[in-house]
Amino acid sequence: MQSIRVSNWFGSIVSAPRVVVEVETVEQIVEVMRDPERYPAPVRAVGSNHSTTPCGVAEGGTLLVMRKMDRILEIRDDTVTAQAGALYLDVNILLRKNGLQFYVNVELGNITIGSACTGGTKDASFAGEFGQLASYAVAIKMVTPSGELVEFTEDDPELLQVARSSYGLFGVVYEATFRVRRLDALSVHHEHFTFEQFAARLPELSARGESMMLYINPFTDSVTVEFRHYEPVGDPRTLTSWQWKLRNYVWSHAAPLFGHRVTTLVRSRRLRGLLYDLYNRFIVFALLTFVKGERTAAMAQQIRYPVVPTNARYTFSIWAFPEERYVECLRAYFAFTKEHYRRTGYRVDLLSVGYRINDDQSSLFSYSYNGTVITFDPVSTGSEGWDQFLRAYNQLCSDLGGVPLFNQTNFLTREQVDKAFGSRIEQFDAHRRRYDPGGRLLNDYFRELIASPGA
Ligand SMILES: Cc1cc2nc3c(=O)[nH]c(=O)nc-3n(C[C@H](O)[C@H](O)[C@H](O)COP(=O)(O)OP(=O)(O)OC[C@H]3O[C@@H](n4cnc5c(N)ncnc54)[C@H](O)[C@@H]3O)c2cc1C
Repeated sequence: MQSIRVSNWFGSIVSAPRVVVEVETVEQIVEVMRDPERYPAPVRAVGSNHSTTPCGVAEGGTLLVMRKMDRILEIRDDTVTAQAGALYLDVNILLRKNGLQFYVNVELGNITIGSACTGGTKDASFAGEFGQLASYAVAIKMVTPSGELVEFTEDDPELLQVARSSYGLFGVVYEATFRVRRLDALSVHHEHFTFEQFAARLPELSARGESMMLYINPFTDSVTVEFRHYEPVGDPRTLTSWQWKLRNYVWSHAAPLFGHRVTTLVRSRRLRGLLYDLYNRFIVFALLTFVKGERTAAMAQQIRYPVVPTNARYTFSIWAFPEERYVECLRAYFAFTKEHYRRTGYRVDLLSVGYRINDDQSSLFSYSYNGTVITFDPVSTGSEGWDQFLRAYNQLCSDLGGVPLFNQTNFLTREQVDKAFGSRIEQFDAHRRRYDPGGRLLNDYFRELIASPGA
């Protein structure tokens, strides 16, 4: 039988499933689950395939592409229900027309509902809110490997908690309901710090009660903080979007394109470094000067990335650290990136970022399960040396006691996963085996990182 070549959005994870099904109905998913001859294992569902790890890979098996199941089914006062393949941004656009919005507005508008309710995500938390999309999923409907339809709801919080971390390992999601909030005006501004200033002032900055997202540059020893909070919406027609459009253009297009050009065209390592730093200083200037406003639209933060990426694309990784130890960990990251550059000649060609995420036990693999965290995430055009950098970065972060995300932290080892999640891995796998005793949904990636030996 012939296989088909599939890659993730960035193009870094390539695989060859035997069968690819563009799913349009629940019945089709049931048919796939019930016919292992025609639809070999592993059976994996994907949404927009934006993940930077092989979490959605169905090598030699059956890949269910969910994008055609994209209907938005119901909007109520405080919830929205949509099919698994609907794009988060499309749902948000409709919510806004109804005076509503999602709680968490990740920058990636292309994330699908099916991935949002069962996988790892991040956006800087607002006071009293979570920073992970799945935490607001209140009902998740799946087709299990036996072809049964099951629903996880708040009536059984323990099961909902594991389902919110299930990554398609309990079943294929066909529909989910998210809790949503009233539309409000989003106030945003940025402040710039040297590393030492940031280190000294972090407790005070966190105590302001605003969301905090960081732009981090180890090579200029600096941290720029984006602060956001909500204000009453007043007249929604007066909300502005241009600040986010500018940010989105620079972040998702101009910066990666510049990084790509400099990385591929400039041969002198010293000149490359100077150009990266010059451009990064320009980005910080633009953030401080232009990306501010008292009444912006939260939804405008989301970017609709092109279906087929161009040279203006980027990739990244992520680990999270307890807030109280963040400065010590970030200091180690600064030292590590410089040492790695000296030793190997490789440095990331875009600004690193970081997110402050509130304490959250809503999902079993929440990376802020044990308390509020802040992340540091290298971002790159994926040039030569990136993979090697990531392996060293993983080791550093694991040694520092960090926690990764299965869909956004590539090249994890079982040892690192066990260290980060401890007994939660066995707890998850016990549930997984109940829904999928034959391992039909298990791919090599999750077999290595999560499954008990022999699965
Ligand atoms: C340019 C870029 C920017 C990004 N920005 C952000 C950001 O700001 N914040 C953030 O949190 N993340 C960000 N990400 C990461 C991204 O949000 C996650 O990787 C997310 O999982 C991608 O959603 P997707 O629909 O493409 O899922 P996929 O990559 O297709 O799938 C992710 C996982 O979910 C499973 N899955 C998908 N659909 C289903 C289903 N219907 N049923 C069961 N399982 C399913 C897959 O098997 C896989 O394990 C970004 C990624 C890129 C490339």
